[in-house]
Amino acid sequence: MVAVSIRAASINHLDLWLVHGAQRVPPPRVIAADGAGVVHASADPSWKAGDEVVIYPVVCDWECDWCRRGEQVRCPHFGVIGEHSDGTACELFHVDGRNLYPKPKGLTWDEAAAFPLTFLTAWRMLTTRGRLRPGEKVLVVGAGGGVAVAAIVIAKHLGARVFATSRSHAKQQRALEIGAEAAFDSTEFSKAVRGASGGGVDVVIESVGPATLGESMRAVSQGGRIVVCGSTTGVKAEIGMPRLFWGQLDLLGSTMGNAGEFEAVLKAIDEGMRPVVDEVHPLDDVQAALKRLDGAEQFGKVVVSVS
Ligand SMILES: [Zn+2]
Repeated sequence: MVAVSIRAASINHLDLWLVHGAQRVPPPRVIAADGAGVVHASADPSWKAGDEVVIYPVVCDWECDWCRRGEQVRCPHFGVIGEHSDGTACELFHVDGRNLYPKPKGLTWDEAAAFPLTFLTAWRMLTTRGRLRPGEKVLVVGAGGGVAVAAIVIAKHLGARVFATSRSHAKQQRALEIGAEAAFDSTEFSKAVRGASGGGVDVVIESVGPATLGESMRAVSQGGRIVVCGSTTGVKAEIGMPRLFWGQLDLLGSTMGNAGEFEAVLKAIDEGMRPVVDEVHPLDDVQAALKRLDGAEQFGKVVVSVS
C-alpha cells in the first residue's frame, strides 16, 4: 500500500448519489474517485516519498485472471474508488501501488484531479466500445457533465468530427469552444444532427437515458453505435425495435475502463489533450462542490482542492 497526500480531488455524479443515500453504502464513507497528490510513504518499492502521482480510480484485486489479462473492468472485485472503498476527498489516501501513475507534467494539480474517472470512461466508450476511427462523426448528448465534456475533448483529439447537445445555450457555446462543430438543444435533436452531419453520426455518447435515447438512435447513420455509460433521467427506457434492427445499430453498454485504457489517456495528455475544470472549491467547503453538481450547472469537472 501507498499513502498519498492528496493535493486535489474531484467529484462525479456518483458522489451525489452517495450523499443522497441512493447507493445503499452505509456511512461513514469518504467520497470521490478522482485524486492527485504526493506520495507520503510507500511499502511498494515502485514508489517513494515525494513522487507526484495520479490515481487510477478503479477498485479491483489485481490478481484474478481478468486482472492479469488487463481486463480490470471484468474483475469479480471490480468497483469504483469512493463507492466500493473510501475515496480521495481527504488529506491522506491509502491505495494499492498498482493504482498509481506519475502525474502528467503538463497538468496543474486541479487538472490532474479532474481527468481520471471521466476521461477513462469516455476513452473506453469512444475507442474500445465505440470503435471510433479518425474522420468519423460523434454526437455527445447532454454536454456539460464530466463524461460528456471528456468525450468531446477525446473525440476531437482522435480526429473525429464532433456534435453536441445541451438544454443550456451557454453550454452549447462552451461545447463549440472545446471542439464541437455544431451544438443543438437536447430535445428533438436528431433531425438537426442528421442535417448537420450529412445523414447521421457514426457514434453517439449517451449518459442521459430515457429522455434522449430515442433521439440518439435516430441521429445515427446506418450501422451506427450508441454507447451508454449512464442514465441520469431514469433507469428504464423504451426503444423503437425497428430502428434498432433495420438500422443495423449497435447499442452498447460501457463502464469505467481498464488500466491499459488509463495509460492511453495519459499518453494523449502528454500529446496535449487537456481536461476542462469547471470550478474549484476547498475541501472544507465540499458542500459547495456538491451543490454545483446537484444544480447541473457545471461544464466539465468540479474540483476539491485539499492542500
Ligand atoms: Zn481481478
